[in-house]
Amino acid sequence: MFLKEVKETLLHFLFPPVCFSCEMDIPQGQKDILCAKCLSNLIYINPLYCKICGIKIDGGDVCYHCRKRDKKYKFEFSRSVFMYNKEISSIIIAYKYEKKDWLSKWISRKMIDKFKDYEEFKDYNFITYVPISKKKLRKRGFNQSELIARDISNETGLSLIKDAVIKIKESKSQVDLNAKEREENVKDSFKVIKPEIIQDRNIIIIDDVATTMSTLNELAGVLKEFGAQKIACYTAARE
Ligand SMILES: [Zn+2]
Ligand SMILES: [Zn+2]
Repeated sequence: MFLKEVKETLLHFLFPPVCFSCEMDIPQGQKDILCAKCLSNLIYINPLYCKICGIKIDGGDVCYHCRKRDKKYKFEFSRSVFMYNKEISSIIIAYKYEKKDWLSKWISRKMIDKFKDYEEFKDYNFITYVPISKKKLRKRGFNQSELIARDISNETGLSLIKDAVIKIKESKSQVDLNAKEREENVKDSFKVIKPEIIQDRNIIIIDDVATTMSTLNELAGVLKEFGAQKIACYTAARE
């Protein structure tokens, strides 16, 4: 046995890896953060999805919500890798509140792999992320969407636009708000501080979860107001 294998076997017995979602033991040799069962519970958005908001649908081109919406979104379209469920939420929550590198890499990897399937991204050469407030950044120490955007930029060659926009309003948690309230809650939250780096560009905004689209829509609107050409969104999960 090579030294590396001895070390791995020893580590496996001392700290048997457990599934991040259900905490079942993960057999040695299976290198993932989820057990086989939880991996099989992940819902990939494939192949039918709403051409506007990216949610998984059973038929047609556009989902029920997008069809009955009276206002157009300010972004061109949004796409995601997974539908939001228990397995995905346990990863995203852990990642957001305790910076764990392997979780960030896991999310980035899935987003990079799926990126190629969405041909509609081909008109976009730039990538950015949803900024968080200074206060939140101090508390958390990092912006989870920025880390993912950086990884995607490194792998896809899309240029990363950093610090073009800041978050100037600390919005309330969106969890208990309905769509209309969410829209109000995020209104005037963002301020473009470097318009010259977004001018005439087609930009993809990266975020972890898209729920009512209110944050992404607000940010897309601000970017366009300051000269960005086309905006698309790309998130790990769609709720
Ligand atoms: Zn599991
Ligand atoms: Zn839709």
